[in-house]
Formats: sequence, structure tokens, C-alpha cells
Amino acid sequence: MPKPLFIALLIAGPTATIAGSGSFLLGLFVLLVVIVANPIVRSIRKARYFASEHFTSLRAAVASLVAEHNAVVGYVAEIRSQGSFELGASSTGQFAHLATFQNDSSWNNRRDRNVAEYAPHVHNASLQVVRNASAEPIKYLMKYFSVRADQDTLADVQRVSGDISRLEEAVMNVRGREADLMARIAPPAFIQKHYSTEFWEQIGAHLSPIAVPYPQYKFQYTSAGGNSAQTTRIRLDTPTLEALSSTLVDKIRWAKSAAGQRALMTNGLRTFIKTRDNYACQYCGISVAAEPHLLLEIDHILPVSRGGLSTPENLQTLCWRCNRTKGARVIA
Ligand SMILES: [Zn+2]
Repeated sequence: MPKPLFIALLIAGPTATIAGSGSFLLGLFVLLVVIVANPIVRSIRKARYFASEHFTSLRAAVASLVAEHNAVVGYVAEIRSQGSFELGASSTGQFAHLATFQNDSSWNNRRDRNVAEYAPHVHNASLQVVRNASAEPIKYLMKYFSVRADQDTLADVQRVSGDISRLEEAVMNVRGREADLMARIAPPAFIQKHYSTEFWEQIGAHLSPIAVPYPQYKFQYTSAGGNSAQTTRIRLDTPTLEALSSTLVDKIRWAKSAAGQRALMTNGLRTFIKTRDNYACQYCGISVAAEPHLLLEIDHILPVSRGGLSTPENLQTLCWRCNRTKGARVIA
């Protein structure tokens, strides 16, 4: 008799006896629950599943998809390490020192050191300012973090916006591929629940949980005694960055010209370019029709760094492989 079954019988035997012979079915039910929920039994079932012909043949069938998935995961890591996801982080940035700490009591200093955030742009302010900032985030962000309405700032916001949007799309693409692999193999529920990490190891997929490092700005009020605190957080995600871009455009006189208006890159424009190009790479011709999980990116034909504008004439759809090759060429 296998050891787990023996253990289960040891538990279920007395249970059934206590319940009385009339409750034999109940005892049997308890026995089944005990067997299935037992970690040792589960571990044996897991080993049998991963060794099964069913699983190994499916694993072989998705091998090329896994290889492609791993290549895109590597590319996502590349985008993450190359991009700078901070305003003012580029050489043209005009406001590198955005964070201001107005309250420098020892209590608050200690607290600030404990708050380990990626972008600790914190403004300590009155309760009124903290509340107003949540009602009008763009206005208060610009006012209290000295975001100037000029061309360099707009270019900087567009750069961060572009890097974040590119990373968001690549991360979404990887998640889509993982969902697809999961659906193709369709492991039993207990594998998905208890052995998810081992499942991905078994099929050889590199999981790289890459979070998009959205810049965060914080308005913080703390009462004198430190008992009451309120915070407004502004996360520079795509909608906020687009709102900030268009606010800057409204404020910059030159940009009120048709040329300035057209120069704004938005998610809407990215979608427009992809649709215009039939969701196909303009270099190698591969398309979403041929490869459903194809990662497509929008490329400036003349790079922004050389004065290229975000106008439809200067934008094209490229697949991630061609865009990476082009990027390497431009740097070289
Ligand atoms: Zn291509």
C-alpha cells in the first residue's frame, strides 16, 4: 500500500467509526478530501504530471514559442535598463532637483530615510495644498515641483512618456505570451495553484516580473504632533504624462502653431500609425496577421535626437527585432 494512502486511512478510519456506520459515505468523503489535500499526495501527483507523456509532448510542441518568449523577456529587460524613467534625467533636462523637503524636524528626517521609494519626490505641504493637489494634479505638479512650460521640458516629458509606453507594451506582450502558453498546455488546476513556478521552469520559460517604474510625486501633510497625515500621490503613468504634455503645449506659445500641435506623441497616434501600416513591420514585413503575439513598436524615421518630429510622415511601425537592430545602428 502506498504510504500516503496508508496515512489517509489511519485518519479516515477513526473518523468513519466516530461518525457511525450510517455515515460511511461521509467517512469516504473525508477520506477523499484528506487524500487530495495531502501535500505528499499532491507532490506525487505533480511529479507524475511533469513526467507524463501528455506533458512532455506538449512541452516539445511549444518549445519554439518558449524560445521566442524568452527572447522578448530579454528585450524587455533591455528597454528597462536603457530607458530613463525620470523627468530631468536626460542631459537636456531642466529640472533635475525636483524634490523639496520643507519639514526638516528630526522626526520627519528619520521617517524620510525609512521611506525607500524609487522616486522620492516628496513635497511637504499644508493640508489644503495636499487636498487641492488631488483635485488638480497637473497644475499642482507643475507649480510645486517646478515643471517649467518650455520646449525642453515638453521634450523631456515626451521622452519619459515614450519610454514608459514602450515598456508597458512590451510587458503586456510578454504577459499575453505567458497566458497563451498556459492555455496551450492547460495544466491541471492544482499545478497552477501550487506549482506555478515549477511549471514555468519545466517548460523552460524565463519569468521576469518587470514592473514599469512610474515616476511618483507626493504631496504630504503631517500634523505637528505627527498623529495625522494625508498624502496625495501623483503617478506619472501614460494618461498623466499625456495630460501633462498637452497642458505644456497649451502653455507654450510656439506650440500653438500647427507644427507644435502635431509634434505630440500620444497613445492615440501610436495606434494610428500601427493601423496605417496594417500592423506590419515596415522593414521585414512580418505582421500581426502572421504572428498574433508580435511586439510592434513605433519608430521615428529621423530620430528625435536629430530633430525628428512625432509626425505621421516621420513615424513607422517596426517589429521589436528590427527596431533593436536599427537602435544599435543609430548608436554606432
Ligand atoms: Zn521587422
